[in-house]
Amino acid sequence: MANKFVRAIFPGSFDPITNGHLDVIDRGIKLFDELIIAVGRSPVKNQLFTPEERVEMIKEIVREKRMKGVLVESFDGLTVEYAAKKKADVILRGLRSLTDVQYEFQLAMTNRAVAGIETVFIMTSEQYSFTSSTLIREIASLGGNLSNLIPPTVYERLKKRFKKLKD
Ligand code: ADP
Repeated sequence: MANKFVRAIFPGSFDPITNGHLDVIDRGIKLFDELIIAVGRSPVKNQLFTPEERVEMIKEIVREKRMKGVLVESFDGLTVEYAAKKKADVILRGLRSLTDVQYEFQLAMTNRAVAGIETVFIMTSEQYSFTSSTLIREIASLGGNLSNLIPPTVYERLKKRFKKLKD
């Protein structure tokens, strides 16, 4: 990868973005020249934030943290078609545990078979290996403290949504 400009996309639902995602993004920007965080618009089960809200929150974090070479967009349809449209060289995905590997392996093999695109995996730090957006949504709805697992801007939004949440 040494002399070539390498563009990666990091696709996901990000509903909402967590410190685990951010950990993967921080590591990813060291490997690639450009990283596009791509928020899928396809309907997700128990959606909490609209794709627009998710993009807005991530953009806010990227700005705050002054992340260089990081772009944020939403996309419709197939990830591989979006990757081709953006002329991305690789798809970035995060791994938390062996359980993730099985599904991600299948997804990566399929994407390579249908579009010839490679997937690069980054393992998260252990402290986020149990963090998932699904659990964040559940804990938020029950009023649990999430300040160690999500960025402050996301927590603020969640507090507006779930009045039970404390500081
Ligand atoms: P999707 O619905 O496509 O899995 P997610 O937003 O749940 O979208 O996840 C996007 C990517 O981030 C996936 O590769 C997922 O495995 C990874 N990911 C999710 N949570 C974490 C975490 N805590 N640490 C590292 N990677 C994560």
